[in-house]
Amino acid sequence: MLFQFYNTKTHKKEPFHPKDPGRVKVYSCGPTVYNFAHIGNIRSFLFVDILRRALKLGGFVPDQSMNITDIDDKIIRESIAKGISVEEFTKPWTAAFFEDLNSLNVQTLEHYPKATESISDMVDLVHKLQHQGLVYEKEGSLYFSIQKFGNYGKLSHIDVSGMKSGARYDADEYEKDDVRDFVLWKNKKSEDEKSWDTDLGSGRPGWHLECSAMIRKVYGSGVDIHTGGIDLLFPHHENEEAQSQGAYPEEEFVTTWLHCEHLLVDGEKMSKSKGNFYTLRDVFSKGYDSKQIRYHLISSHYRSKLNFSFAKLEESKQALDRIQTTLTRILEILNYDWEKLDGSDFQKLREKISHSSVSNAVSEFESGLCDDLNLPKSLGSVFEFLREINQNLDSGNWSAKECVSLVYYFQIVDSVLGLLEFEKPESTFSAAEEAEIEDFIRQRKEAKANKDFAKADEIRKTLTERGIQLIDVKDGSTQWKKIQ
Ligand code: AMP
Ligand code: ZN
Repeated sequence: MLFQFYNTKTHKKEPFHPKDPGRVKVYSCGPTVYNFAHIGNIRSFLFVDILRRALKLGGFVPDQSMNITDIDDKIIRESIAKGISVEEFTKPWTAAFFEDLNSLNVQTLEHYPKATESISDMVDLVHKLQHQGLVYEKEGSLYFSIQKFGNYGKLSHIDVSGMKSGARYDADEYEKDDVRDFVLWKNKKSEDEKSWDTDLGSGRPGWHLECSAMIRKVYGSGVDIHTGGIDLLFPHHENEEAQSQGAYPEEEFVTTWLHCEHLLVDGEKMSKSKGNFYTLRDVFSKGYDSKQIRYHLISSHYRSKLNFSFAKLEESKQALDRIQTTLTRILEILNYDWEKLDGSDFQKLREKISHSSVSNAVSEFESGLCDDLNLPKSLGSVFEFLREINQNLDSGNWSAKECVSLVYYFQIVDSVLGLLEFEKPESTFSAAEEAEIEDFIRQRKEAKANKDFAKADEIRKTLTERGIQLIDVKDGSTQWKKIQ
């Protein structure tokens, strides 16, 4: 699969060619662990999961990292207020973050570096920057000099010409129209503030420094892809670029920057500071399940703003049910035995699939993903194909063998969606009832062979009254399903 990704830095869709397809380096900005993540944050983490799954489907081997920001102003403030250490404070929130990801079937990444475990890497990076003459000191804190760097603003496309020389920021976040030098290392200001004694002085890192240093720590180089929510583009990612390119001017820091748009509530960005947020637990407590939430958050294009609504969670359930119902129907036809087919069956299948509508449907699904991870486009093709599948099954055009190739199709789809069930659910019929239905079907076949059509019709009627529909397939077999 040849992916085209929209690179925020160039404002263009570009073909994706990782430096090493056997190790695609992807770094994503992760959570600040001071509370439960809200589902806006979770949208950006699900985007990382979709990217990972698509890369795998495309035959790449991802080597992914997501950092855990376990030190910042808020964390220090709140741990001091609670009278506990930073570690004690962040531990349960870090655990809650992984619990949330687990409940949404997000795949585990290769690395989750923590800021507090990467301090020496941050100190090394500041030394590199000092060596390049890009750092100055003021009242014990160290700042990055934007003017000395001279290449600032290339990622977020901001104009720095009006910038006041020597104006500085200690805060982690600030606005685009007020560009100033940003802090690399914050001098310790009070006794109870968490700090590290390093040869930069006693203090702690600035937030932006963390990601640049952790990328270096994990990969020893730059990365193929860097992701984050769009709110991180400036200043966070601009500052990451400045630090990393400043320290290693001869190397490319990031080849492709991907930014996920915001989740909105009533047209406004969901955020803790606005108070217009829901955590995953809030949504669960209203009776919605993790599949509905995952589907809602992944089914829009990652570069489109998405309005969160409970009505859309309901719609998500219906959409997902449509996919699952068809898959379950196929699995029931196969009696969940498709895994037991032998090698020669698969060989025949492969030939069959290669020029069937299944192979077209697989290509349609993949081509959506290749187009800048356009999952809505891929899903559109799935719903179209569902119609075709059901028509063919209803008319008895497709037999069990076609159904096996359909299972492959659904496995490909689900390798990205992560939402379907392939296991046999608890049957609503007991084994004895199922055996009885099979026996009726055998008797009906016999009656038809003896041209006793009245008896055959009688058996069909009996089963219909019991809520069972019979489907005669062209290969001579008969399938049955529960009438919904
Ligand atoms: P934080 O824990 O605040 O550092 O944020 C973690 C991730 O969530 C970052 O990539 C943010 O850009 C992203 N994020 C924050 N708010 C939203 C939102 N409303 N919609 C989508 N992503 C968001
Ligand atoms: Zn970051």
